[in-house]
Amino acid sequence: MTRTALIVGAGIGGLSAAISLRKAGWNVRVFERAASVRELGFALLVAPNAMAALRELGVADVVLARGVVPTRGEVRRMDGTILKRADFPPPEVMGGPTVVALRPAVHGALLEAVGEDSVELDCEATGFSVTADRVTLRTADGDAAEGDLLIGADGATSAIRRALHPSEPPPRSSGLTAVRAAAYGAVDHLDGLSGIHYMGRGVESFLVRASDTGIYWGLGLAQELLPVGMRDDPAAILRHVSPRFDETFRAVTSGTTDMRVDELVDRDPLPFWGKGVVTLLGDAAHPVLPHTGQGAAQAMVDAVALGKALGENGNVGDALRAYERDRREKTAVLVAQGRRTARIMGTTNPVACRLREVAVRLAPITPLVKMWAAINRRAGTDVSR
Ligand SMILES: Cc1cc2nc3c(=O)[nH]c(=O)nc-3n(C[C@H](O)[C@H](O)[C@H](O)COP(=O)(O)OP(=O)(O)OC[C@H]3O[C@@H](n4cnc5c(N)ncnc54)[C@H](O)[C@@H]3O)c2cc1C
Repeated sequence: MTRTALIVGAGIGGLSAAISLRKAGWNVRVFERAASVRELGFALLVAPNAMAALRELGVADVVLARGVVPTRGEVRRMDGTILKRADFPPPEVMGGPTVVALRPAVHGALLEAVGEDSVELDCEATGFSVTADRVTLRTADGDAAEGDLLIGADGATSAIRRALHPSEPPPRSSGLTAVRAAAYGAVDHLDGLSGIHYMGRGVESFLVRASDTGIYWGLGLAQELLPVGMRDDPAAILRHVSPRFDETFRAVTSGTTDMRVDELVDRDPLPFWGKGVVTLLGDAAHPVLPHTGQGAAQAMVDAVALGKALGENGNVGDALRAYERDRREKTAVLVAQGRRTARIMGTTNPVACRLREVAVRLAPITPLVKMWAAINRRAGTDVSR
C-alpha cells in the first residue's frame, strides 16, 4: 500500500519535499496556511548546490530558462566609487551554474511539478499526535489528517518545530533589517553589468538582474542606524538612505512601490530535529541568515536528502534519523557562517569598514567564489550520492 506523507508548508522547502517524496514512491498531502500558494520575497540567488538539487527534482532547466546567470559585477561604495569590477568564473569552475531568478519563477516551477491539487490551502497546522507508526495532524479549523510521516516545512516560526521543541527561545535577531523589492524596466541602468554590490557603514545593498526586464534589489541595514518607528516601513527606510547612494542605485530603486521589510533572524542549531515519524525541513529545521545565500538552497538539498533516505530505509523512523544525521551538522556550519558574514557586512565600525574595502580591492575573485562554492558543496551539493 502506498504510504502517505503529510507536509506542512507550501514554500520552496515543502514543495521540494513533495516532489522528492513522490519520486521515492510516497503519496503526498501539502497543508498551507495561506489562502493562495505564493512566494514572498521577489527573487533568489540559486547557488550551484541548489541547482544540483533542482536537477534531481527535475525542474533545473525551467529555472535556468526563467532566470539569469550573472557574468559580470561590481562592488561599489555607496557614493559610487568602484572598489572592484570582475567577471564571474564560468560554471565549470564553480561546480555548476549560479542563477538569479524571480521567486515566482522558482516556486512556480516547483508548484507546477507538484500540482496545485496536492496543496490544501487555508489550512493552518496547529499540532500533531503520534500513535505507533501513524501520525495525526491537527489544523486550526478543527480537522485532522492521518499519515505515515509528518514533515514540518513551515518556515522559521514553525508550529511543528514548536511542538517538538516547546522550550526553545524565539528566533534570534541579527540586529539587521532588510528591505527587498523588484524593479522592472530599469535594466539599462546597470550598464551591461549583471549586478552591483554596495558596501557602506552599517549599510549594504545589491542590485542584480533576475529576468529579462527585472532587477532584484535589496538593502541591509544595522538597526541602530534606523530612527525609532522606521523599522517596519520599507518606503521610509529607502527614502532615509537613498540620498547616500549613487545615481545608479537611485535610478533603479526610485520607481519601486511594492517592497517588503524583514528583521533578519536565525536560530541556534537544534540538538535533534524530529522524533519517531516526524521531522523538520528547510527554515523550520535550520533558518540561516541570508548572507549565506543558502536558505532556500538548503531547503531543496534537505528535500532531496530526505527522499533518498526514505528510498533507502524501509523503516520510516530510521530513514528520518539518517536524513537528520546527514543534514544537521552541515546546516549548523552555515548558521555560524551566516553570523560571521553578517557581522562583517553589517559593521558600523569605521576601521573595520576600511579594512573590508582593502580586502575587497585585493582579493582575487576566482578563489573567493571557489571558496564559497566549496563551503556550499560541503553543506550538500553532492545530492546524487
Ligand atoms: C532577505 C532575504 C534574502 C534571501 N535570499 C536568499 C537567496 O538569495 N538564496 C537562498 O537560497 N535563500 C535566500 N533566503 C532564504 C530563503 O528565503 C528561505 O530559506 C526559504 O524561503 C525557506 O523556505 P521554506 O520553504 O523552508 O520556508 P518558507 O519560505 O518560510 O515557507 C514556509 C511555508 O509554510 C507556511 N506555513 C507557516 N506556518 C504554517 C502552519 N502552521 N500551517 C501551514 N502552513 C504554514 C507559510 O505560509 C509558507 O508558505 C533569503 C532570506 C531573506 C530573509
